[in-house]
Amino acid sequence: MTSLRDFARDQLDRVEQRSLTRHVVQTERLGGTRVRRGRREFVSFSCNDYLGLTHHPTVIASAREALERHGTGAGASRLVTGSHPAYAELERLLADMKGTERSLVFSSGYMANLGVIPALVGKDDLIVADQLCHACMWDGARLSGATVMRFDHNSLDRCEEILKAHRAGFGRCLILTESVFSMDGDCGPISDLSAMAARHGAWLMSDDAHELVMDRPSGADVKMGTLSKAVGSCGGYVCGPSELIEWLTNRARSLMFSTALPPSSVAAATAALRIIREDVELCRRPVENARRFTAALGRPPAVSAIVPVIVGEPGRALAASAMLQEHGLLAVAIRPPSVSADTARLRFAFSALHEAEPIERAAELLKKHGYA
Ligand SMILES: *Cc1c(COP(=O)(O)O)cnc(C)c1O
Repeated sequence: MTSLRDFARDQLDRVEQRSLTRHVVQTERLGGTRVRRGRREFVSFSCNDYLGLTHHPTVIASAREALERHGTGAGASRLVTGSHPAYAELERLLADMKGTERSLVFSSGYMANLGVIPALVGKDDLIVADQLCHACMWDGARLSGATVMRFDHNSLDRCEEILKAHRAGFGRCLILTESVFSMDGDCGPISDLSAMAARHGAWLMSDDAHELVMDRPSGADVKMGTLSKAVGSCGGYVCGPSELIEWLTNRARSLMFSTALPPSSVAAATAALRIIREDVELCRRPVENARRFTAALGRPPAVSAIVPVIVGEPGRALAASAMLQEHGLLAVAIRPPSVSADTARLRFAFSALHEAEPIERAAELLKKHGYA
């Protein structure tokens, strides 16, 4: 058998030939939208801290108080060591804001999807998923053992064709979509899919990881999301009826067999959600900034804080990213397998804290160099 070292080197060579090598680049966040890499500083458009809450003084103070009172770690899974009291308030707040009876917090959004999907469907069941759903929904789907069929992105017709042709042959049926798609920034047709799910005896689950305003009414039966993006902490959640939450507590393996979040992260998320609930103006700003960018590019107005600039080949995305870096702007190239072949892109994530000048400069540079 080949050595481990030779195996890994050979695999890496293949990835490199396709311009798909990934590196973890040491990057220090300086507060606001500025980051430092090596000796250089950049304005970053590659961070999902949409509201700047990771550095908000109230959020930091809550986290610090929890840290000093309750220590650095949770000690065990919530079912083993007991659930920290701070979870009760966080889960009540999430359920209130999402308009459901209850919610359940996991250690990440990824863990939530891995735990929830297999708790809802199994080998005799059907999953019908938008082709652009996030990797962790596919992983949860695969883990469930259910038959998985995908429909063209946001195509209600294709989704319904699948349901008409195949729904009857399965037990339970789960439809998966996202309220805001992570790499494209467009929105899933939640209310139409919800009506379709009801017509065909299916449940709708939406991944709301990129939602900014938590109380947007959504017709999904199961709503999951993350505390690590707009909420500025870490963790994942699922919202739904009481019995569902009780069942997930008994069946979601990623909840049962993984250590709970540190108390400071729970406290930070709670403080951040209170700010999100109160500060409507703050929650509006990321999309306003995204619209400043789409206007400068001469494109239709953005509908979320995410704007992709699709350039095609992975190598071209790397070149576009390098060009912007020369001008002090950081927008990381997104390549397969995060997006499909030939749709490599720069993904711009806008924060409430971005100023107008770098946004407009990024747009001008992309136009000048023929990328947009
Ligand atoms: C980031 C993301 C997740 C995972 O959330 P984490 O808390 O970072 O693990 C899930 N779904 C979507 C759509 C995401 O963009």
